[in-house]
Amino acid sequence: MNKHTLKPGLQYRAETVLYTGHFVTVNEDQPRATAVVVANGKISFVGTKEQAETYLSNEGIDYHLDEQFASKTIVPGFIEAHMHPLGAALFTARFAYAGQIERTGKGGVILPASLTKEALQAKLNAFVQAHNEAGKQGEWLNLWGLDPLLLTDETAVDRDFLDAICADSPIFYMHSSCHVAVFNSMAIEKVGFSLEDNPAFVFRKDNRLTGEVAELPDIMRAVKLGGFDMGTPEDAVAAMLGYADSTFRLGVTTMSDCGMGVPQNPYPLYQALSQMPAFKARIAAYPLLPNFQEQELAHYKEQSNDRLFATKVKHIATDGSIQGFTAVLKQGDKYYNGRESGHFQYSAETTYDNVFYAHKLGYSISFHCNGEGCTEALLDLIERMQNECPQPNVRHCLEHNQMVNPQQMDRMKKLGVVHNLFGTHIPYWGDVHATQTVGPERVKTLNPFQSSIRKGIPFAIHCDDVVTQVNPLFMMWGAMNRQCVFSGTVYGEDECLTAEQALHAVTLGAAYLMEQEHMIGSIEVGKLADLAILEHDPLQVAKQVVKDIKVHATMLGGDVTVHRSEHGTQHDETTATLTV
Ligand SMILES: [Zn+2]
Repeated sequence: MNKHTLKPGLQYRAETVLYTGHFVTVNEDQPRATAVVVANGKISFVGTKEQAETYLSNEGIDYHLDEQFASKTIVPGFIEAHMHPLGAALFTARFAYAGQIERTGKGGVILPASLTKEALQAKLNAFVQAHNEAGKQGEWLNLWGLDPLLLTDETAVDRDFLDAICADSPIFYMHSSCHVAVFNSMAIEKVGFSLEDNPAFVFRKDNRLTGEVAELPDIMRAVKLGGFDMGTPEDAVAAMLGYADSTFRLGVTTMSDCGMGVPQNPYPLYQALSQMPAFKARIAAYPLLPNFQEQELAHYKEQSNDRLFATKVKHIATDGSIQGFTAVLKQGDKYYNGRESGHFQYSAETTYDNVFYAHKLGYSISFHCNGEGCTEALLDLIERMQNECPQPNVRHCLEHNQMVNPQQMDRMKKLGVVHNLFGTHIPYWGDVHATQTVGPERVKTLNPFQSSIRKGIPFAIHCDDVVTQVNPLFMMWGAMNRQCVFSGTVYGEDECLTAEQALHAVTLGAAYLMEQEHMIGSIEVGKLADLAILEHDPLQVAKQVVKDIKVHATMLGGDVTVHRSEHGTQHDETTATLTV
């Protein structure tokens, strides 16, 4: 495992700056500080102002004192260890949003939620009209963000629903989970979905296709036919610059591509972006298995620098999502509303063949995993791989692992397996998990944050953007309150994190999962100077208002950007109404 700080991807400013403020370091050896010295993109001193001045004068270093953040709380830059930035950027920039959760779009525009059948129909009708007015009648219409479970009136969004809105352009409507898509009749015909297809993934009712298609192998059939209008490479650069700007405003300094390679390999794009100072993020890219073989993986690892690193890998073709009812449950279990368990995409033997080569090469593998049955199967797989080829240093990770049970966590501990829990699931799907997917008891132990701490399992929390939008402070709030935004109900108070634990999960915890905890994730000497400068201390405010804390500025490798609101004015401190 690479334990060296990666080489610089961009040149950093050499000037030495002494910053003052209230630093919450996420370093247990020195949890608080009031001064930090930054030079060459890195942190060179942490302590008090007086200590820093003594250090600088003893070393004979010329410096500049910057006290603009003296009244702010400064935490490590936030790290999102499971997201899909290219998909999120392109969907946001190019596709029509028809989801049930409000999001922020390009330029800070609010993309409202459509929660009823009428609201959704009206929105889709408007998109169809715009599509036709643009002269695109007959061409693919791309929609995204659907979650039928979140519609308040149990509307079935299937081919018939879509046909009634538009029958003369093929529609590709992606669920927010990205594990299911729904197509209208014209699209079904164009792609050639038929009753011959596997009913586990190409759904049907009364011997007729419903238009709902689950999981990548079948969804990709539509993508390969041009079903997604991804635009030109220039469009992708523009979309990514805009997207990174919006995440940077929220204090994110490192993002991940937790599955690099679908539908195309974006590595050349990421390389170009990582050399642009205007692109405000570091990217941890996880090449997908088995798409990339030994030499390509070695090449990415070798090329890695501190702006773009690809040192671990991802395998996604396991089970699906809980809200899509495609997650694989424990053998014999059904969903709470009576629906059957989901299915594995491939046999255990095929999965083993698809990933064992990377294990043998010493890569840490992140596995997509939602259902309890999938957790079990992946622990069996990891145990088998470790028996056949012991790799004591790898950190195989179960991504989501939402339904993991206590016995499985004991097995994880024994096998050295870590996990990345879903920070925003209870806030958005808590109610439907209680009433439809897993039931009112089981929902309380979904994403067992506090149990992970008790059992000593390293973990991070994530948003999985495109599934839910990046926003680390909202995610911290979610893990600290486990409250559903729709009903206000709390699901599983015992599993709530404290503010300190939640902050760790979105900084150092995420860095550990990326295998870069020696380089990012805390405010420590030698680490990169990536900081989020906040208006309030998340460890001091009431836990209900952590999501409302404003990010005043973000520092990436020593470069500071003070954020301005959409109207061009800086956040006005006097409007802050948080209870401190
Ligand atoms: Zn994902």
